[in-house]
Amino acid sequence: MLYKELAEVYDKLEKTSKRLEKTEIIANFLNKIKKQKEEISSGIIYLLRGRIFPDYDERETGISSQLAIKIISKATGISSADVNKKWKSLGDLGKVAEELAGKKRQATLFREKLSVDKVLHNLRGLIEFTGKGTVDRKIGLIAELLASASPLEAKYIVRTLLGDLRIGLGEGVLRDAIVWSCFGKENKEAFEKVQTAYDSANDFAVVFEKARKGLHALESIEIEPGRPVKVMLALKVDSIEEGFEEVGKNADFEFKYDGFRLMINKTKEGRIYLFTRRLENVTKQFPEVIDYVKKNIKGKSFIIDSEAVGYDFKTKKYKPFQEISQRIKRKYDIEKLSKELPVEVNVFDILYYNGKSMIKEPFKKRRELLEKIVRKERFKIKLSESLITDDAKKAEEFYKKAIEEGEEGLMIKKLDAPYKPGARVGYMLKLKPKTKEFDLVIIGAEYGTGKRAGWLSSYSVACVHEGRFLEIGKVSTGLKEKEEEGLSFVEMTRLLKPLIIEEHGRDVKVKPRVVVSVIYQNIQKSPTYNSGYALRFPRIVRLRPDRSVKDIAFLKEVEKEAKKEHR
Ligand code: ATP
Repeated sequence: MLYKELAEVYDKLEKTSKRLEKTEIIANFLNKIKKQKEEISSGIIYLLRGRIFPDYDERETGISSQLAIKIISKATGISSADVNKKWKSLGDLGKVAEELAGKKRQATLFREKLSVDKVLHNLRGLIEFTGKGTVDRKIGLIAELLASASPLEAKYIVRTLLGDLRIGLGEGVLRDAIVWSCFGKENKEAFEKVQTAYDSANDFAVVFEKARKGLHALESIEIEPGRPVKVMLALKVDSIEEGFEEVGKNADFEFKYDGFRLMINKTKEGRIYLFTRRLENVTKQFPEVIDYVKKNIKGKSFIIDSEAVGYDFKTKKYKPFQEISQRIKRKYDIEKLSKELPVEVNVFDILYYNGKSMIKEPFKKRRELLEKIVRKERFKIKLSESLITDDAKKAEEFYKKAIEEGEEGLMIKKLDAPYKPGARVGYMLKLKPKTKEFDLVIIGAEYGTGKRAGWLSSYSVACVHEGRFLEIGKVSTGLKEKEEEGLSFVEMTRLLKPLIIEEHGRDVKVKPRVVVSVIYQNIQKSPTYNSGYALRFPRIVRLRPDRSVKDIAFLKEVEKEAKKEHR
């Protein structure tokens, strides 16, 4: 297929903000690509999402705005300084590429027509290079594409490169378009089936491949050890009573540990993989866990859900998540850290065991299986502390005990519920002492003045609604001036700088990547921000490197909290 056809689809999507129109555009396009071979159509699906691999695959092109400027300069023969100037005025390197590609057009009348395959091939080529000469080779690969690209194609190649397609295509729209294209708009059952399939596979290309063969094929998508599954999420409740109302009696109460979610996978070949809730592969980062899994869990193959909590090996004191989070992305000193700051794994669910999916089994049965197969060993691996009861008083006491022991609160689980990957359903609830807090993503920032000159020191934070990030406030408190004291302006500036996509004076816009937990005093309706709400007295309490932009607060949650406050 010609890349031109895809670029035209992007263009149409960009021109409308209406969800139904977007779905129609994509559904029509999917009808067309149904005729393509599987390898080609899967590539097209990834590109539609602005990616070159499935969603769970962490490999990215690693091209910064600065490198993109060099690439555009090389492809068009216009100096980097001039490209930079254009960028400042247009605010989007994609548009810069579009405009400049239009100018050099006369010079390259006999350009080769770009195929989707070629674009994908060169973009994927970017990740293969490491070591000496990498930058020049990367520039070469993309400049080659831009040299043959029409203005429209150039715009979207550059945006794909930067991981910022700006066509407003969320997961939900693509899901609906697959349903429309493969099963028709009216097929209600198919919406849920496609979503369930996606939550298990985390790969829209696989889902589309099966969907075009029919509902039956779609249902055959099973979870499988070694391929990350989205974790089930919890709803919030404010009291034990509310917990019972949601999940019924008896209920399972468990300590809510302050660590990070870890999915432990063992494949039938005996290989062990660890994934975070963002589906990052962290197998290499936690060698001690591999060791516990080998020694303490019985079974040929499994997927086990757990919370890993760090502790100081010498003092045997548990550490808050913030202090252990450094291990998640760590690439060096891994062995040393695994000895000094190891994790204890608190196992609480099982999704797959010895060749069979367990997600449709009731929770109680899954927990019983865990009891049988995990050999508990303190400071290594254990089952989460649990109490099954219908007695509110006993549950209250258990809650008190959890808090006294320094845990975050309780999880409350429905005994006869299945496991729903990726869903925030009422099968699992969380109960915590009240603080008002949201996880939000930084979408912009401002350079400080005076003592804070040179640092990005005020941040625009956003929640999400149907794939769009909506601003909900500006935060400048909570960070430290000195790096030794905790999360500092310097560190934040270091994180945000490579993500800059637009600059206007002291203000910058950044790719939405950095997730932070923000506490606040209350929420007000506000015309200032496009979410329609503003957080009053917001304060950043921590970075959430364990969270992706998919995990941030939904606009709906913000609305719900705002309503509660005004009751
Ligand atoms: P919060 O920000 O309140 O921690 P969250 O956004 O991390 O919530 P939720 O799914 O809403 O995620 O809350 C449940 C989280 O608590 C789980 O994702 C898991 O990481 C953690 N957790 C700790 N202990 C348990 C447990 N016993 N059972 C299930 N989850 C647990």
